Amino acid sequence: MSSTPVVTRIAPSPTGYMHIGTARTALFNWLYARGRGGKFLLRIEDTDRERSTPAATDAILKGMRWLGLDWDGDVVSQFERAPRHAEVAHQMLAAGKAYKCFSTQDEIQAFREAAEAEKRSTLFQSPWRDADPASHPDGPYVIRLKAPRDGATVIHDQVQGDVTIRNDQLDDMVMLRSDGTPTYMLAVVVDDNDMGVTHVIRGDDHLTNAARQIQIYLAMGWDLPVYAHIPLIFGPDGKKLSKRHGATGVAEYQTMGYPAAGMRNYLARLGWSHGDDEFFSDAQATEWFDLGGIGRSPSRFDFKKLENLCGQHIAAAQVVALLHELEAFLDETGQPALTEGQRDGLTRGMYCLKERAKTFPELLEKAHFIMASRPLAPDEKAAAALDSVSRGILSELTPQLQNASWDRETLEQTVATVAEANDTKLGKLAGPLRAALAGRAVSPSVFDMMLVLGRDETVARLKDAAA
Ligand code: GLU
Repeated sequence: MSSTPVVTRIAPSPTGYMHIGTARTALFNWLYARGRGGKFLLRIEDTDRERSTPAATDAILKGMRWLGLDWDGDVVSQFERAPRHAEVAHQMLAAGKAYKCFSTQDEIQAFREAAEAEKRSTLFQSPWRDADPASHPDGPYVIRLKAPRDGATVIHDQVQGDVTIRNDQLDDMVMLRSDGTPTYMLAVVVDDNDMGVTHVIRGDDHLTNAARQIQIYLAMGWDLPVYAHIPLIFGPDGKKLSKRHGATGVAEYQTMGYPAAGMRNYLARLGWSHGDDEFFSDAQATEWFDLGGIGRSPSRFDFKKLENLCGQHIAAAQVVALLHELEAFLDETGQPALTEGQRDGLTRGMYCLKERAKTFPELLEKAHFIMASRPLAPDEKAAAALDSVSRGILSELTPQLQNASWDRETLEQTVATVAEANDTKLGKLAGPLRAALAGRAVSPSVFDMMLVLGRDETVARLKDAAA
């Protein structure tokens, strides 16, 4: 076993919003590094100046932070490393592993057309590959890799197995453009090498790029990283995940109010498995995650399963942490911050709110009796429950509650006694009580609400309703 510490990275291009697939790739890299005492790095691939935007970079950083995928060290900007990329291209030139190519676009086009007419491979073969430097013109040139033309390149992929690509299917790719800027293919390799990346875990849309990138490692005499190309995420219908299926942006899941732990759990299961385990903690995922558990076929995004796991994570969360995340959700979605009283109420009441809430909006709906203040405005169904008979019973109950000791057993007893005296079942009283205490027909149990609200507030709300 090698003792080299594991270094992984996520290297998103900041050209739009943060896709859920990027989040999953980041998560896999994060889990792999964190489970091995390694480092997880973040590099923004902003070399394409026309497509890269600061807003897209911000969206990536925000998404990473929301998901709790902390990275080590500073964020690396690929663009800022352009001089280093050029330096490597020139080193390869000096070592005879690369060459200056003076072919113009028109010449390349003519080559392709001729090749097509003759039914040969249209991969460009530059006449400058073996040209004597003495014959070089004084014009603009690109630096191309002198790629092997015979044999094959094998990618020992941890997910796909050994993937062999014939070298005659790879051209002498451009590494440095005529304006001196690096191509993506060169930048990725130089950056991964310089950052000490040992494991490249990324989408399988990059699999053939790996064959080209390996040529640069070999030419430079650098150690190859371990590759793991993971299948893309598909929608429930087996087609590539798109907006048609539902939200594809990380930010959308944040504003829909899914808890980050639930997202992590779900994304980890999307393409990776550990036996039959579905619901697990970050600690378990970190301990269990390995490349061998990544499947070879595309995973299908299952919104129901996401919700189910999110519900379980909300139920399992510590009250303080949940409250903290709820406050972040309110802030993120532009809702008013909690008042001191609401925060206290939520702290006391969280135990009965967190069961069966899959998202923060659902949790807030259940928490309506805490969030709302007197006098409550009952919704239509709640108002209907407060008919004159019910209001009469409520006003009978109020003085009893004023003197009852405030524990569940006594409260149940007290309500049951009043119900009996009125020839009605306890269950029949629940509706009016809910309406009085929450202003809603759906709420946590009436006894939970009484306990959370406390005597004074409970009595006041019953009086409001009976009036
Ligand atoms: N920037 C590439 C992308 O966003 C990733 C490159 C890589 O992971 O090697 O698809």
